[in-house]
Amino acid sequence: MRIEIDSVSKGYRTPTGEPLPVIADLQATVHEQEFICIIGPSGCGKSTLLGLLGGLHQPDSGSVRFVGTRTATGPMTSIVWQDYALIPWRSVVDNVAFGLELRGVPRKERREIAMGHLATMNIDAFADSKPHQLSGGMRQRAGIARALANDPEVLLMDEPFAAVDAQTRTLLQEQLLQVWSADKKIVLFITHSIEEALLLGDRVIVLGQRPTRVVEEIVVPFPRP
Ligand code: ADP
Ligand code: ADP
Repeated sequence: MRIEIDSVSKGYRTPTGEPLPVIADLQATVHEQEFICIIGPSGCGKSTLLGLLGGLHQPDSGSVRFVGTRTATGPMTSIVWQDYALIPWRSVVDNVAFGLELRGVPRKERREIAMGHLATMNIDAFADSKPHQLSGGMRQRAGIARALANDPEVLLMDEPFAAVDAQTRTLLQEQLLQVWSADKKIVLFITHSIEEALLLGDRVIVLGQRPTRVVEEIVVPFPRP
C-alpha cells in the first residue's frame, strides 16, 4: 500500500470571509511501511494535512489516493491526537473498543480485541478505570491502543507525545517503535521536535510557511535504536 498526494491544495476562510490558503499544490508519495515524520512551523497546515489523509477534510483540488489497500471499505486510517480525545465517561477499555462498537462487533469480541491492544501498550491493568484516573502518558497509551483497535493500514499521529514529560515520552517512543516493528503500518507522525523526527522516522518531511509546500525531505541516514 502507498499513499499518493497529488497537487493537493486546501484552504479555509478567515472569520471575515477572506480566503486562507493553507496547503498549496502539495506533492508527496508515502511508500509501504514507511514511518514519516512531518515538521514545520505552527499554523503551516500539518493538522490539515493529517485531516486530508484521515478523510476529515476534502482537498479543494488535487487528490489523495491510497493505492493497493486491503479492502475497498473498512477504516484505512486512525488518528492519535495530542490531547488523547478519550471519552471521559467511558472506561479505558470501552474507549478502545469504541470504533469496533460502531462497526457492530459483538461486546465480548470487541472487549477481547481491546484488551489485547491494551496489553500491547502495557495498560491492561487500567482497563476498567476512567481516563481521568490515568496519567497523561497512560492516557496516550490508551489513545494508541484505540487507534490500533481499528486495525488501520495507516496510523496518523498529531503531536502525540507533546503533552507528556520527557521521561514518559522516551518510553512512549520506544513502545511506538515496537508496535510499528511488529507489522509496519504506514505511520505519519507530526512533531515539533527535530530530534524526535530523526529518532522515529525513516524520512522527515519539512513543511514551510503557509501556503505550505514541502521545503525539504530528509532521508534518515542512521538506524533506529
Ligand atoms: P498546524 O497543524 O501546522 O499548526 P493547522 O493545519 O492546524 O496547522 O492550521 C493551518 C492554518 O489553518 C492556521 O492558520 C489555522 O488557523 C487555519 N485553520 C485550521 N483549521 C481551520 C478551520 N476549520 N477554519 C478556518 N481556519 C482554519
Ligand atoms: P506513565 O504515564 O508513563 O505511566 P507516570 O510517571 O505518570 O508515567 O506514572 C508512573 C506509574 O505510576 C505508572 O506506570 C503507573 O503504574 C502508576 N500510576 C500512574 N497513575 C496512576 C493511577 N491513577 N492509579 C494508579 N497508578 C498510577
